Amino acid sequence: MDLQFTAAEEEFRAEARIWLAGHVPTTPLPSLETAEGFAAHREWEHQLAADRWSVVSWPEKYGGRGASLWQWLLFEEEYYRAGAPGRVSQNGISLLAPTLFEHGTEEQRARVLGPMARGEVIWAQAWSEPEAGSDLASLRSAAVRTDGGWLLSGQKTWSSRAAFADRAFGLFRSDPDTARPHQGLTYLMFPLDAPGVTVRPIGRLDGKPAFAELFLDEVFVPDADVIGEPGQGWRIAMSTTGKERGLTLRSPGRFTAAAERLAALWHEAPEGTAPALGDRVADALIGARAYQLFTYAHASRLTADEGAAPDRAQPKTGDLGAESSLNKVFWSELDLALHETALDLLGPYGMLADDADEAPAHGSWAEGYTFSLAGPIYAGTNEIQRHIIAERLLGLPKGRR
Ligand SMILES: Cc1cc2nc3c(=O)[nH]c(=O)nc-3n(C[C@H](O)[C@H](O)[C@H](O)COP(=O)(O)OP(=O)(O)OC[C@H]3O[C@@H](n4cnc5c(N)ncnc54)[C@H](O)[C@@H]3O)c2cc1C
Repeated sequence: MDLQFTAAEEEFRAEARIWLAGHVPTTPLPSLETAEGFAAHREWEHQLAADRWSVVSWPEKYGGRGASLWQWLLFEEEYYRAGAPGRVSQNGISLLAPTLFEHGTEEQRARVLGPMARGEVIWAQAWSEPEAGSDLASLRSAAVRTDGGWLLSGQKTWSSRAAFADRAFGLFRSDPDTARPHQGLTYLMFPLDAPGVTVRPIGRLDGKPAFAELFLDEVFVPDADVIGEPGQGWRIAMSTTGKERGLTLRSPGRFTAAAERLAALWHEAPEGTAPALGDRVADALIGARAYQLFTYAHASRLTADEGAAPDRAQPKTGDLGAESSLNKVFWSELDLALHETALDLLGPYGMLADDADEAPAHGSWAEGYTFSLAGPIYAGTNEIQRHIIAERLLGLPKGRR
């Protein structure tokens, strides 16, 4: 692994740093889990897109910069170091877009990607159902053939951002008579304001409507909104989950920046603060650095071309296969450790919500903590990731189901 960045990579980093220094809002935006915050974050996506910083790794014709995996990693480091706002377009950019690049039609890419990059259309992921989470293949929401398209019916749940989003992408059972549950599923996109859609927000621990349940009653979707072949939804979705757990959902920049903020908190801690907390700060710093180096190793491997010298300019986005499960378990546990340690350092003040005037760092540690609690659950629970690691990476026998 070569840890020297090229001149072009350093130039890219410097350009991003300068842009961010001139544009990141000096007062943090309101939480994106509220209507006001959602609108403010949508506007921020628009600003990013105006200078082609919203989707740096996409090809230029879709609003990106054709950035390599390395440039993307450096951009993310700069983004989080600058304290830039959370990405309200994350579902679309890191899940739907890679799916469209791989399985969509040119017409779909031309229609969907630009408005996504500019924050004009914000996407929600509608995969989970009340009885289909870890065992996603047991999903029951149906897509029934009709003239020129499909009628969607059923219930989806835990759909992040859906309370305020514009459209959703999800899996539906289009053939109920297949031999195996993974067969007969179709991947579709649908509007959240279409006739037949009811969006019911679900309050989070802090009361903010971060997610929603979706009730669908014969919602019409044209054939143009089917991604890939009908019946092939499982295969298409699985090529997306590796991206969700792997690099593109949680770049190390997010954690190295949080670790640096945590170290700053430790330096400001009053005299007499328990030394054991200092040890936890050090552990979290080491964890963030280890994750960064582990990701660099992945990136080196992903950009190496079958034994040839790594082609660092390749605009790959990081498809790790089963190894993405290692990343998922690591980043979710690291995020918890970072936030728990920060709250223990801050004491009672750390519990203040982001709208309280005295909340340290505008409540970002408290809000980050409630979100980090969900890390071991979303993007596939850590128990399931450990099964994948045991079976597919370590070759251990299948566990009892
Ligand atoms: C913050 C957050 C955001 C989310 N966003 C979205 C979203 O945008 N779109 C979406 O579609 N979904 C979303 N989800 C849903 C998420 O994907 C599911 O919660 C997750 O897949 C687990 O499913 P479940 O909740 O049904 O739990 P279950 O599958 O019922 O699991 C319950 C517990 O049992 C364990 N378990 C289950 N099966 C096994 C097994 N075979 N072996 C060992 N242990 C097992 C699980 O690991 C877990 O600890 C989100 C969830 C959260 C918390």
